[in-house]
Amino acid sequence: MELQQKIELIKNNTAVAMLAPTFAIDFKYPNIIGMLRALGFEEVTELTFGAKMVNWAYENYIKDNPSQELFISTPCPTVVAFIKNQYPEFTKYLMPIVSPMVAMAKIYKKFNPNCKIIFISPCFAKETLEAPKHEEIDAVINLKDLKQIFEKNGIKEENFNGNYYFDSLISEYTKIYPISGGLAATSHIQKFFKEGEILVTDGIENIKKALEEIKSGSKLYKFLDLLNCNGGCIGGPAINHQDFSIDERKKIIFEYTHRSSEDTMGSHRGKIEDAQDINLITEF
Ligand code: SF4
Repeated sequence: MELQQKIELIKNNTAVAMLAPTFAIDFKYPNIIGMLRALGFEEVTELTFGAKMVNWAYENYIKDNPSQELFISTPCPTVVAFIKNQYPEFTKYLMPIVSPMVAMAKIYKKFNPNCKIIFISPCFAKETLEAPKHEEIDAVINLKDLKQIFEKNGIKEENFNGNYYFDSLISEYTKIYPISGGLAATSHIQKFFKEGEILVTDGIENIKKALEEIKSGSKLYKFLDLLNCNGGCIGGPAINHQDFSIDERKKIIFEYTHRSSEDTMGSHRGKIEDAQDINLITEF
């Protein structure tokens, strides 16, 4: 879909902007919420509650499959494609659970079936590899394009210094999901594994190394939390601030996590009861 078509989609529908927490590397919070509303979005949310539900689904899946020898996380479509293409013998270990992006879109559409979900993404793979397989995602706008759209429409950060609130279903502790290891840290999967059985890693070379170690039998990992980009999604190629180091980006995400306190979350915090009836299973 061309950028102009995406703008039309926003203007002519009940459009919901669904932000990946990586937005905080490029845009100020809460200004971004006002800026997106000025662009025509009716509602603005994060995908963090989707991440919370993904954690819940991971926990259930591992509990229900106690004899499976290895589990591989699947929020990153590049990792999924890499394993399917380069290490097909590991495909059976890919967790058959949708990503936080898809989970949150499904949840949102349960409550607002006629809305259009536009995901704001730190990478291109979400749009090219993953979104086309899930009808719940109506469009993806990456952070580089979003910056250009704001510039073209004269929407400036400094004009949105008020108190803006996310519209619905937020989870504060999963805001660290885009940092490598965020999934393993925020889910409750540790209880299923012994020390040393969970590996968190990022970058294709490290992922290759881990898979080779498992193949050779030199490592007995049971859960792999993998993200393609250096440092996790905070290293995504569509982030405007490629000049920031990974440590600087991490710091921004941690600061943002701490800023999102009770008063801005309010009654919008998502609870498992809101979404436990939604099917989060997928196939790879
Ligand atoms: S790790 Fe990189 S490629 Fe994978 S989902 Fe995150 S930003 Fe996209």
